[in-house]
Amino acid sequence: MISKEQILSLLSEIPDPEIPVISIIELGVIRDISIIDNASISLKITPTYSGCPAMKQIEDDVRKKLTENGFTNITIITIYSPPWTTDWINAEAKEKLRKYGIAPPENTTEDKSWLTGKIKSIACPRCKSQNTKLISQFGSTACKALYQCSECLEPFDYFKCI
Ligand SMILES: [Zn+2]
Repeated sequence: MISKEQILSLLSEIPDPEIPVISIIELGVIRDISIIDNASISLKITPTYSGCPAMKQIEDDVRKKLTENGFTNITIITIYSPPWTTDWINAEAKEKLRKYGIAPPENTTEDKSWLTGKIKSIACPRCKSQNTKLISQFGSTACKALYQCSECLEPFDYFKCI
């Protein structure tokens, strides 16, 4: 019988539809895997935020990957509690985001700086300067904000903390 580790390794081959440098496992959206037998499997997925268009793509990719590996009875359950947080992206994946040119989420969701009105500056993923400014709350997708570096003048996406 196929092991959970083998399933995790298969799913690690699926890139995030919006950020192809990280896998859906690194993104942290797969919350639970139950292998019933070699043909039947049940997974729990938590969307990065409700209405994220990438989730449909992720679900389709997961079904395709599992079908290719002999599963005929695939159940995907979307769970909303606990809600997905950027804390579920590990340090290694955050470094991949930076190399890709996206500023990774810096604050944990525990950070309440938004309450005090003091917004922490976001470091430029290219030159690491803290001298950056917000251009738009919405970058290339709704889960990112568009920033521009005042040092190297590069615009970049910032993965918003949820
Ligand atoms: Zn810069």
